Amino acid sequence: MQPLPIGAAQTEQALARAADRHRRSPLALTTVPRGLGPYRGYGEVLAQLTDLGRRGAAVSVIGRSVRDEPIFALSIGPASARRTSAILSGVHPMEWIGVETHFTLLERLVERPPTDRRIVSVVVANPDGVVRVEDNLRKARRRFVRHNARRVDLNRNFPSFWGKGSLSRLLLRPVFSAGAGPASEPEVRAIISCFKGQMVDRALSLHSFGGVVLYPWGNRLFPPLDRSELRRWARHVARRADPHRPYRATQCSHWVPGFTAPGMELDWFYDQHGALSLLVECSRGGLGLPRFVPGKLIEPFAWFNPPAPERVAPQVAQAVERFVRGAARPSD
Ligand SMILES: [Zn+2]
Repeated sequence: MQPLPIGAAQTEQALARAADRHRRSPLALTTVPRGLGPYRGYGEVLAQLTDLGRRGAAVSVIGRSVRDEPIFALSIGPASARRTSAILSGVHPMEWIGVETHFTLLERLVERPPTDRRIVSVVVANPDGVVRVEDNLRKARRRFVRHNARRVDLNRNFPSFWGKGSLSRLLLRPVFSAGAGPASEPEVRAIISCFKGQMVDRALSLHSFGGVVLYPWGNRLFPPLDRSELRRWARHVARRADPHRPYRATQCSHWVPGFTAPGMELDWFYDQHGALSLLVECSRGGLGLPRFVPGKLIEPFAWFNPPAPERVAPQVAQAVERFVRGAARPSD
């Protein structure tokens, strides 16, 4: 990892200061009574990063957001390892089940760190967006949030295929707004510089929702060179993510017919690093079981996040573990 040129003590300070700034009452006190599930606010996320740091993960600051929030990465495994697995979540700020799944996975990795690779993890890639979602939840404002503080969809801002025409952009330009240029956004630049010069051969991005495992390309309709290997891994994860009702596994550009997506992290890790790259849309959202509350239909947070994250996160985390640990092939 190429952290900003600051020492470990300064990183610790930056994390402590950010955790202090965002410390508030547990968010679950607000979300649980409304049937939205026990989710962590940003201060609680930072406290958890601090805790993982104390248990052996190396924390670094990899950049700053539009609103000057530090963006943190964790590294687990030997610093001298040649290979790297990348894990992202919180790219889209409303998709908190991805963050919870990421934390569950990190628990497993810290408990039994890899010896032959580093796992570098950005739990919240879009802190400004996540803080905005938290504010909305605390004020009971029902708002859909997808962007960073400059109204850019970070998952359309990566340099691979950036700005290429697509039907989704044509129809829904404000939703999938790609920014002023490739990697115009500081959050995306932070991620790019974090992995620069590393041999990233596995990449995982945790989003929600839809119960689907996607592999490249997002922007091309024809299959990637490593299609059979990518598809084997995607199917492996899909089966395990929900044994009762397996997720779907598909090439990203085939997910919604006619909708290709330029500028995605999924394509960038494959295109620029040659990494086997997966994007998991965790859960099937939060409108259904265990209890359907009609009011939740107009609560965007509930579209993306199941009310029982403790049931979803462990299943998805164990489903992706073998992949991020760099196993040569799926177990089946
Ligand atoms: Zn997403």
